[in-house]
Amino acid sequence: EITPRDGNETGIYSPKYDIYNESRLTLIADLRKALLQNQLMLYYQPKQDLLAGHIVGVEALIRWHHEERGWVSPADFIPLAEETGVITQLTKWVIGQAMKDLADLHTDNPELTLAINISARDLESAELKGVLELELQKHGLQARSVTLEITETAAMLDPARSLQALNVLAEQGYQISIDDFGSGYSSLSYLKQLPASELKLDRSLIHDICTNESADVIVSTAIQMARSLGYRVVGEGIETAETASHLQAKGCDLLQGFWLCKPTPITGLKPWLQNFKAEGRAARSLPL
Ligand code: C2E
Ligand code: MG
Ligand code: MG
Ligand code: MG
Repeated sequence: EITPRDGNETGIYSPKYDIYNESRLTLIADLRKALLQNQLMLYYQPKQDLLAGHIVGVEALIRWHHEERGWVSPADFIPLAEETGVITQLTKWVIGQAMKDLADLHTDNPELTLAINISARDLESAELKGVLELELQKHGLQARSVTLEITETAAMLDPARSLQALNVLAEQGYQISIDDFGSGYSSLSYLKQLPASELKLDRSLIHDICTNESADVIVSTAIQMARSLGYRVVGEGIETAETASHLQAKGCDLLQGFWLCKPTPITGLKPWLQNFKAEGRAARSLPL
């Protein structure tokens, strides 16, 4: 089976290195085609509860295997899709596919929640609410099983509009999560106006907490502040057991990262969840 590589490896296609804009145009044309021809895939990455130890939900992450270019990173094509408006169609596809998969996962894991990444452009679109509603109905799901992740930066683009759109969605029962917290310049006092229940600490903030004392202090303080404001706090990009137990000791609620599980297609996720319940949980249990 072919598996995506991460963006740091050489050989992965990145539009950043293109001299000609034509390449961006070709890429976006190819993305449109990929959408129509069903060439996109979703991988899922679990979120683990650090207190209870179990898996509470999974986040859908889009994957694109381009016929000639190989794996194209979402970090490269999502911004392009946002600029060109293709994101609306893309998000629609993600919502449909992810909810179908969630209904399937609910057979064995009825409490599992699904997180979907939403862009600023989606929040501006009048379609989003209807698309979500339709897919929930189609698959017999409840809004409370679905978390919408919006990045701190996206939420800040048009704060008044984000606030209004997110309020409508929160009233429908969706959980709202602030993604990549700490990667931008927004303050918690502003973000607190948004109807979010979850805050995800950006990987860049967390990755060196075990070796860098000021990073450790910043993360501890952010966790305490976020928790006192009523957020559930997720640490993302956790790659080592050491970082995981460190975050647990600081009172972080949930964890996501390669240490627990890499993003995985649904076919691999199902046995992974089964195995986690049987024995993986012991292997991934933390001291506290
Ligand atoms: P994100 O939502 O913050 O997702 C987390 C990213 O970190 C994912 O990258 C994931 O594969 C990666 N990751 C998770 N654990 C680890 C770890 O332990 N170490 C390292 N090095 N990386 C880790 P990915 O899948 O490449 O996605 C990048 C970004 O693209 C996402 O960041 C999200 O903002 C965006 N994205 C992905 N799928 C979608 C989608 O369906 N719709 C939208 N609008 N955006 C998406
Ligand atoms: Mg996310
Ligand atoms: Mg993130
Ligand atoms: Mg991110």
